[in-house]
Amino acid sequence: MPPQGLLLIAAYLPESWLVRFIDENITEATAADFNWADLVFVSGMHIQAPQIHDIAKRAKRAGKVIVLGGASVSGAPELYPEFDYLHIGEIGDGTDRLIDCLDESVAPPLAQMRFETKERLPLCDFPLPAYNLVHLEHYLIGSLQFPSGCPYRCEFCDIPALYGRQPRLKAPEQITDELNEMLKQPGHPSVVYFVDDNFIGNRKATREMLPYLIDWQRRHDYPLQFACEATLNLAKQPEILSLMRQAQFLTVFVGIETPEVDALKAMRKEHNAALPMMEAIKTLNSYGLEVTSGIILGLDTDTANTESRFKEFIDLSEIPILTINLLQALPRTPLWDRLERAGRLITDDMGLESNVRFLRSYDEVVAMWRRCVAYAYDPERLFARFAYQVDATYAHRMDVPVRGKLTIRNLREAVVLGFNIVLWVGLLSNYRVSFWRAARRALKRGQVDAALGMGLVAYHLIQFSREALRGDQNASFYSARSRALTRPIAP
Ligand code: SF4
Repeated sequence: MPPQGLLLIAAYLPESWLVRFIDENITEATAADFNWADLVFVSGMHIQAPQIHDIAKRAKRAGKVIVLGGASVSGAPELYPEFDYLHIGEIGDGTDRLIDCLDESVAPPLAQMRFETKERLPLCDFPLPAYNLVHLEHYLIGSLQFPSGCPYRCEFCDIPALYGRQPRLKAPEQITDELNEMLKQPGHPSVVYFVDDNFIGNRKATREMLPYLIDWQRRHDYPLQFACEATLNLAKQPEILSLMRQAQFLTVFVGIETPEVDALKAMRKEHNAALPMMEAIKTLNSYGLEVTSGIILGLDTDTANTESRFKEFIDLSEIPILTINLLQALPRTPLWDRLERAGRLITDDMGLESNVRFLRSYDEVVAMWRRCVAYAYDPERLFARFAYQVDATYAHRMDVPVRGKLTIRNLREAVVLGFNIVLWVGLLSNYRVSFWRAARRALKRGQVDAALGMGLVAYHLIQFSREALRGDQNASFYSARSRALTRPIAP
């Protein structure tokens, strides 16, 4: 996905500043890029800390002044002593003071300077992110922000501390303006992800915004599909669900975290237990929403039964895609504070999969993670869950005109994708029988998209699980290890 934060900052900088935007997930900044710049602005999440340090080294070597903002530095500024300027918090008064300071001089300061936002810029005053500075065709999924903040206080989550508990919102017209901007690029992705941590953080606002989205889709012949993240109590909002279905929301990521009610209470995520979990998942499915689930292993409440309960959850929920992580303690969370008090934070880089001293033995927890990943992504089971979705979920999606998606580029991509899926998954893989069983069911119902999608996603997930079992994948999407292993870091 295109990085929303940097695109927003790029748009917010004074018009007289020339901006060159580089996403190092796509391509590296070159020596010529560094030479061109007066200032290098960097942003990233905790997982990207090694890359952030690496960019700092390269920029310093080129003699540039460096500025760091974004989620990681806002949570843990002490991790980045090498930067000249730190921007802490969201866009707001701290950003304005930083810009004024840099407008005065781009000479390096004598000591690191920090600018912290106390007064956030209201989202309705956000400029249109600088989508014009990126090639959207390079991305699988587009990204868009609607609210910021979340009213809940889950123990492990840094969102309430970083972005507040009172969700702040963009106006519906801002959303449609952003979509118009994306549509200007013929190669834009066909799926746009609402990156908000909780799409229903403010239900009234979500309910009011969705009709604008539906209207926009109708007027443009439905060129896009949407995905978002939300809490499981979305299942109690039939009106919102119906509007989401009409707007073409196809997937919702839900931080289910654990099927164990006691564990949910301990992590202060009781809202996930507000109604029976399976019932809630089936309700979302009945509105055409495929649920993707976040799962955390290594909780203090884990017992010898956790593994079997989780496997049972996979079978009963029929959720195809689960992101299965080990618990990580993020700075500025109640979890971090509790573990710090208990002396259970691992602060040295010991090459471990988590910075938490688990109550159960480390080896036992990591071994459980491997067995759970192997179980979830066993090809036979995975395709059986996809096959279930054909009737339970995909069949409930609204039929919409395909005109908006009928571009030469989309057709060409579909042909290439279809060829690759048939070749690599349908003919050459050792799980081709399972694939065809699920794909046949989708094709019988005319769900060509779904058949291709399940082939593509399953190929990736099966590959991932095989690497995990060989020990080549790390046990948390929040750990720096995988990036450090896959990308050479500057000496
Ligand atoms: S509901 Fe989600 S975003 Fe909100 S505090 Fe909990 S984990 Fe964080």
